[in-house]
Amino acid sequence: MDGAQTPNTSPVLILLGPPGAGKGTQARMLEEQFGFVQLSTGDLLRAAVAAGTEAGQRARSVMEAGELVSDEIVIAILRDRMAQPDCAKGVILDGFPRTAVQAEALDRLLEETGQKIDAAVSLEVDDAAMVTRISGRYTCGTCGEGYHDSFKQPKAKGTCDKCGGTEFKRRADDNAETVASRLDAYHAQTAPLIAYYKAQGALIGIDAMGEIDDIARKMTAIVKTATA
Ligand SMILES: [Zn+2]
Repeated sequence: MDGAQTPNTSPVLILLGPPGAGKGTQARMLEEQFGFVQLSTGDLLRAAVAAGTEAGQRARSVMEAGELVSDEIVIAILRDRMAQPDCAKGVILDGFPRTAVQAEALDRLLEETGQKIDAAVSLEVDDAAMVTRISGRYTCGTCGEGYHDSFKQPKAKGTCDKCGGTEFKRRADDNAETVASRLDAYHAQTAPLIAYYKAQGALIGIDAMGEIDDIARKMTAIVKTATA
């Protein structure tokens, strides 16, 4: 590290939330509104491997050996990526950290760069309502129009409003049991992280069951306060 460099004060946001909570939608909103860059671990790894950076080459050899990429390599890749000019306005971390150990490693990295976690935003959902929301979804097999058992049935039963199709499809992994177990897994995995960021005073919960625009407004206010 070059001690003469001005400290990097670019905001760092962590977005936590189970599948279906609208993380992607909120991240895109933050990208548009604040110029943040969303960094997801999978994309970062693929990009680093493709670019053949030093850390990317290490990741490639580990993956080729069929092993998991270590936290240390992920952190190295994250360090390289966050130093890119497009991250100057801020980053949203999605999918990393996943464990308290990774959260500690991330804190050490941010200490090096002079940054901090401005907010760890947790999109909070009502599990039972989520199961209803996700497991009720289905689409027209012909035109792809989306429907829902509870919230949006076709006007004429069994006939698509848009194209008149009569075949409908459900995603196999959208059934109630699978959705419930995805949520259980999420809570089990995230509990230590939630506790970690709560102890740091960085955790902010948002009720993610409301209207998308309401959630986006709350998110905007949080980011403005956290980065002020
Ligand atoms: Zn249709």
